[in-house]
This record gives sequence, C-alpha cells and structure tokens, in this order.
Amino acid sequence: MAEPDAPRPVIVTVDDDPSVSRAVARDLRRQYGAGHRILRGESGRETLDALKDLKLRGEQVAVILADYRMPQMNGIEFLEQAMDVYPAARRVLLTAYADTDAAIQAINLVDVDHYLLKPWDPPEEKLYPVLDDLLRSWRASGHAPVRETKVVGHRWSSRSFEVRDFLARNRVPYRWYATTEPEGARLLTAAGADEDTAIPVVVTPDGQVLHAPSDAELAARVGLSVDPAEEFYDVVVVGGGPAGLGAAVYAASEGLRTVLVERTATGGQAGQSSRIENYLGFPDGISGSQLAERARRQAVKFGAELVSARDVSGVEVEGAARVVRFVDGGTIAAHTAILATGVAYRQLDAPGVEPLTGRGVFYGAALTEAMSCADQDVYVVGGANSAGQAALHFAQRSRSVTMLVRGPSLTASMSSYLIDQIEAAPNVTVRTGVTVCEAHGTDHLEGLTVLDVATGAKEQVTTSWLFVFIGAAPRTDWLDESVSRDEHGFVYAGPDLLVDGERPEGWALERDPYHLETSVPGVFVAGDVRADSVKRVASAVGEGAMAVMLVHRYLERL
Ligand SMILES: Cc1cc2nc3c(=O)[nH]c(=O)nc-3n(C[C@H](O)[C@H](O)[C@H](O)COP(=O)(O)OP(=O)(O)OC[C@H]3O[C@@H](n4cnc5c(N)ncnc54)[C@H](O)[C@@H]3O)c2cc1C
Repeated sequence: MAEPDAPRPVIVTVDDDPSVSRAVARDLRRQYGAGHRILRGESGRETLDALKDLKLRGEQVAVILADYRMPQMNGIEFLEQAMDVYPAARRVLLTAYADTDAAIQAINLVDVDHYLLKPWDPPEEKLYPVLDDLLRSWRASGHAPVRETKVVGHRWSSRSFEVRDFLARNRVPYRWYATTEPEGARLLTAAGADEDTAIPVVVTPDGQVLHAPSDAELAARVGLSVDPAEEFYDVVVVGGGPAGLGAAVYAASEGLRTVLVERTATGGQAGQSSRIENYLGFPDGISGSQLAERARRQAVKFGAELVSARDVSGVEVEGAARVVRFVDGGTIAAHTAILATGVAYRQLDAPGVEPLTGRGVFYGAALTEAMSCADQDVYVVGGANSAGQAALHFAQRSRSVTMLVRGPSLTASMSSYLIDQIEAAPNVTVRTGVTVCEAHGTDHLEGLTVLDVATGAKEQVTTSWLFVFIGAAPRTDWLDESVSRDEHGFVYAGPDLLVDGERPEGWALERDPYHLETSVPGVFVAGDVRADSVKRVASAVGEGAMAVMLVHRYLERL
C-alpha cells in the first residue's frame, strides 16, 4: 500500500552574469539539493523556454529567483511571463543595490514575494531563511506534490465529516472517496474491510489502515504531536485559537518554556472564517485558515510546543505548579496556565436537528463542505458577521443562499461592509423575522420547516444544507468552582473579581489579581472565554500577548 515518493520540486534561478548565476545555483544546491532540483539559466528568454518544458513534463516549480538587471528582458518582465507558466511558484527579485523603483514595480506588477539584495553572504543568514519561508508557504498552498492520506466513508456519515474536517483544519493533505465510487470500493477491499468494518476507513501515506479512528489516534498517525515532550513548563496554554496562539508566540519568543494544548485544530473560530477583513495589517483580508497557519508556524519557530487532539478536562493547583489534566488521562505541569478555550456555537433547538448534525446540518462554516454545495440551495441561520461571511462564501458556488434571521433586520447584528456585500450578491436572499422550527430527513437533511415568528405561519423548504450560526457559549463546563465565572460561564478576571473592593473567596495572596488573572493565582484567561471580552481576532491576540506579560510578573514573584 506504500506509495512512490513524490517528485522533487524545482527551484529556478536566472542571472545574466554566469559567475553569479553559478554561485547562486551552488548555494541553493548545497542547502536544497537533496529535496529539490535546481535549474540555472543565464537569460530570461532561455529560462522561460525551460520553464515551459518543465510544465509539459508535469514538473512542479516551487520558487523562481530572477536578477533585476538583465539585458533584453529584465527580471520583472521575466517574472511576469514566468507567472503565466507557473502562477503558484514563489517569486524573488535579486538586485545588486537597493532600487526603490524596481521594488515598487516588482510588487505592483508581479506581486513579488521577496526582494533580495546581492551578495547575500553568509547565505545561512540572508538567503536560506527567506527560501525556507517561501518553500514552506508554497507547500502549504497545496501546489506541492504530496503523499496524501485517504479517507473512505459514507457521504452522509457525521463521523466521516468530522474526520475530513479534522484533517483539513490541521492542514493534513487528504483525498476523500465515497464508499459508492469505484476507487473507494477498491480501497476498502484492499484494506480488508467488510460490511462490519467501522467507517470511515483512513489509509495513511505509509499504508497504515485505521477504522473510524478517534481524533487523538488520527493525529498521532498522521504526524501531529499528541504528547508533551517535557516534564515541566513555564506556561501551559489551553486552546489554540487566536488568543492561545498569540500567547504561545509571545511566551516562546520571550524565552518561556511554552506548551499549547488544542483539542481539534489550531485557529479556533477564526480558523473557520472564510475571510477576515478587519484584522490589522491585511487590507485585502485573509482567510482564517491562512492566518491560523501563519500563527502556528510563528509559535513553533519561536520554540513553542504544540500538543494536538487532546481535550483538557481540569486545571488544578499542586503547590506552586498549575496542572492541566486531559480527558483521556495524562497531565501537563507548569508554573502558570493561560485559559484560551474560546466559545462554541450554540445548538439549534428544534426537532430533527440533532440526529442530522454532520449529515447536512453543520455548526459554523464547515468549509470542507463548500465544494459539495456547488449548484445547491443552501440555508444559513443567523444574522451576525460569522453568518454573513459564510453566506458570501457559499454564494460563490451554490445556486442560492437563503439567510434565515430571527431579528427584524441585519443592521443591529452585522457590520455594514458585509451587509453591502450581501445586498450586492445576486444569489443571496435575506429573510428576516423567521427561524427554523424543524429539520426533516432520514439519513441526511432533506428539508426544513421555517417559522414566521410574528404570524406563526409555517413553510416547508427543500434543502440538504443548513449552516447554523446562532451565537456562542463559553467552553468552560470542564472548570471547577475554584475558577470564578459569570452566570453564562464566562471567566472573571482581574478587577471583575473584586466585589466591593474585596478579593475573591480563597484568594490567599497579599495583592489583587492581575488584570487577566482568574480567581486562581497563576491561572490567566485570554480571548472570547473571558467575561466581557470583545469577541474579535485582534482583541483575542492582544489579550494573549498581555497575559504573557502578566505571567512574567507572576513568575518574578514566585
Ligand atoms: C465564522 C467566523 C468568522 C469570524 N470572523 C471574524 C472577523 O472577520 N473578524 C474578527 O475580528 N473576528 C471574527 N470572528 C470572531 C473571532 O474568530 C473570535 O473572536 C476569535 O477566534 C476568538 O479567539 P479565542 O482564541 O479567544 O477563541 P477560539 O477562536 O474560540 O479558540 C478557542 C480554541 O480552544 C480550543 N479548546 C476549547 N476547549 C478546549 C479544551 N477543553 N481543551 C483543549 N482545547 C480546547 C478550541 O478547540 C479552539 O481551537 C469570527 C468567528 C467566526 C466563528
């Protein structure tokens, strides 16, 4: 069942000066020769022909480096034409001295990924880190040849959906086969499956066969780390959304021994957003999964350890240590803990919804399903930004999207830029003053009953797709009473813990709780899960960073 190795991607370099061209190729070969083919050219025209040949042979080009000052065709003109052949290849412009005009032109015309000054000695400092970054982003873009995991399951099985969603959100490349298609049936036979076999069947790239694996089993077999490597840490972060990732990046970059525990996939809610348009520094917006992936890499780069697919079920005080306990056994001990467990979608309380969840009814955008909704009629419940983003996302492929909104209009709950986009989308309809009062279907969703809240009138609609966004509840049911919370379960911190100037019950220290410190000293909270938090990516990231500053203050006094 093992598959052949993937072909080596190509790195292309072109410079009209033969000695420079040879030197670049030599440096590239030394560092990347084992996993890549290095192709060297001395003119734009000749190298473009070589690129077209590579294309005909079906080869993958990962990075193209071009000198700016070449006769006949300069580096920007070359990269512009190279883009037509290999649009996904990362582009680097080489110049001998800082040339602002060339840089501006390069950015405007060919969206160059990097602008590199020659000479770059030592390459370890100036060339390789840039190339490493570009190769990583090219691989993550999905254009690299990959040896993928195969998932075989029933179209309408909720566990099959969860497995695909888990792999997608953890950026594990996979291919999906329905049991009814010939390749799916062939894989099942090869895996020795019969009608009693638990579905889905997962075949890992090295040929291991897993029957309906749990998230933890799947994570371990596809190469995600599921166990902490150390005995003790300075800080354990619970939850890998923007707040947890923010905390991990700042803690690790400031030298703290940091571990982050995430139950499903880093990125949290933000990772499920099709486009975040209001996060500072991304004027054209960024997909949630890209933002999450960059943050994950940044945390790892600074030395944070990530433990995946482990569900935290308790945080306890053992002397000076804060001990985080996992649902499936095992613990992590640290001087401090940061709770960043965010919120989870509130469930739609209507007959028929629960048994059809994962079989046509989904919470959140379930971005893995967007392709399956092509040319279909999709319903989205909810009137806040997350529902609006999802509606626009599905509208790109679906025949129609109907938003079912309980309130009288979108204006009270949705940003105006989204309302404008929804109004401009020809296949999105907004129905206000309505709600879903029943879901129908046997093995998958087949229709809904929509209730007009004012008149009580009911209407049946036919659809196989319902995406629900009706607010969220904090994920804190696993915390014990020692961590003080409000009536909805959001965690109190800092000044909110003081009642009439009195410190919380059981608080034994001679100081007030720090700003993001909970009622348990040394246990901090950040992001959506905190009482009165702002519920935005930027504020979650900011609170993660701030919690780390307070961790330092706490550690100084240990
Ligand atoms: C579809 C959608 C679109 C959005 N769009 C925008 C936008 O455009 N702009 C904006 O500013 N905000 C947006 N938001 C809101 C934003 O995503 C959140 O405010 C932000 O993600 C909160 O970050 P967080 O880290 O506090 O929590 P979360 O993102 O909720 O992350 C919490 C993490 O903790 C993990 N976790 C929970 N419990 C446990 C446990 N017991 N053990 C281990 N791990 C656990 C979860 O799996 C999750 O990964 C959007 C939200 C959604 C759902």
